[in-house]
Amino acid sequence: MTAIAASPAPALLWFRHDLRLADHRALAAALAGGRRVLPVFVLDDEAAGDWAHGGAARWWLKGSLDSLGRSLAARGAPLLLARGRAETVIPALAAAIGAAEIHAGRGYEPWAREQSRRVHEALREAGRALALHTTAILREPHGFGSGSGKPYAVYSPFAKTLLAAGDPPPPLPAPDRIPGVEAPAGGETLDSLALYPVRGEPDWARGFGALWQPGEEGAAARLSRFTARALGRYDSDRNLPGIEGSSGLSPHLRWGEISPVQVWHAARAAGAAAGATETFLKEILWREFAYHLLWHRPEMPARALRGEFDAFPWVPDQALLTAWQQGRTGYPIVDAGMRQLWRTGWMHNRVRMIAASLLVKHLMQPWQAGEAWFHDTLVDADLASNSASWQWVAGCGTDAAPYFRVFNPVLQGEKFDPEGAYVRRFVPELAKLPAAFIHKPWEAPAGILAGCGIRLGASYPRPVVEHAEGRARALAAFAALRKPG
Ligand code: FAD
Repeated sequence: MTAIAASPAPALLWFRHDLRLADHRALAAALAGGRRVLPVFVLDDEAAGDWAHGGAARWWLKGSLDSLGRSLAARGAPLLLARGRAETVIPALAAAIGAAEIHAGRGYEPWAREQSRRVHEALREAGRALALHTTAILREPHGFGSGSGKPYAVYSPFAKTLLAAGDPPPPLPAPDRIPGVEAPAGGETLDSLALYPVRGEPDWARGFGALWQPGEEGAAARLSRFTARALGRYDSDRNLPGIEGSSGLSPHLRWGEISPVQVWHAARAAGAAAGATETFLKEILWREFAYHLLWHRPEMPARALRGEFDAFPWVPDQALLTAWQQGRTGYPIVDAGMRQLWRTGWMHNRVRMIAASLLVKHLMQPWQAGEAWFHDTLVDADLASNSASWQWVAGCGTDAAPYFRVFNPVLQGEKFDPEGAYVRRFVPELAKLPAAFIHKPWEAPAGILAGCGIRLGASYPRPVVEHAEGRARALAAFAALRKPG
């Protein structure tokens, strides 16, 4: 009689912000040695605290978990959904299935680092260990620094070093089969996680489904569309909000439905002009840089990286903040951006910069108020990129646009949306205005306004702050901040 070899004890795979099967190092490690796998996702709002997923992110998450669950089930290992503290849920599940190994992707947000630490501790008490893998970024931020060994504080040398290091190793393929284990009873369902707006409340996200396809398949489709259609013109078109000139990959990257390694290699393989590809890869490196900063400066989401900005004389004003949130500032390019955000869960990068600049400079609202709104309303809301970008715009980051560079929302609109196509789409009450006035309706003669059905101050607001006045006020506040004593 031949002895039947006992199959090795199973592994637990904890999915975090890497909701995919391809190029997943934690999944590959869990499967190594022929182990069966229990895939788990834990909704742990308490761990994230103030940075728990916002409304738009939850909408995305539901679709993404649905897609991941179907892919896993088709390969043999259904996804177990759980809710609660990860340091309670993961060790309990590991014990229930007798897991020999627990694998997960590393998290970089301060709360996710603390969560990893707690899970690790709890597992250790039970004689188990948590193995963390790189699943969300290209290069681990710890132990990576400039010549002097210090973490990078400025983007250019950071990006230069990564580009000089050459392409990352090729992505791992998705496994064909994932042998599963019987899941312990008591898991949640997608519906019981209650990620969508509550029935009866206005469902502002009802239009998202027509625009986005959360999940790994949707990410791959978006990537092929971008490399086939827009990558070659990315250098010029990425700044034009009226056309589809950028990839739209940000929510897919945010949720790890595609890895930056996969995106990098696909861009290289697309055969577009070298300049356009390099510009695109540099944007991927901005994301990478934001993670680097967040790791080394975990206070970044809440506090200015330049200490002197703690004393900045912001003038919090709920009415102004609400006008900005609702896209009723009277600056068409800003209002179009804020309404695009509300309607689609996403905003074009150029317009994010213009809208953010108006809030912190002309309106003198603290950047954290804008950051919080974006966190709640963006499907790509990402603590690293969001906080780094707000600090960059506000001028208080380590590598920031200088505070005194104040975007003029009219000139920006005229430059990047010259015919007003973008404004017309999202601010329909201005749709009939001739291009000459589309970014400054207050300069249009009364007859033209009347002919276009516009009553300034009624059907569309006048600017909440006049540009020159807002700019002067912001610069004065900044000058006062810099005065010694
Ligand atoms: P593409 O131009 O196709 O770029 C490819 C990818 O590179 C993006 O998907 C994104 O992952 C990354 N990327 C591009 N630009 C940046 C950047 N400036 N910083 C970091 N990563 C970048 N991006 C987020 O993913 N989440 C956020 O919460 C977020 N908040 C922002 C807040 C402000 C105030 C500003 C000015 C920018 C913010 N960004 C954020 C960065 C940028 O606007 C978006 O990544 C970009 O608009 C996404 O569109 P895309 O996928 O078409 O980008």
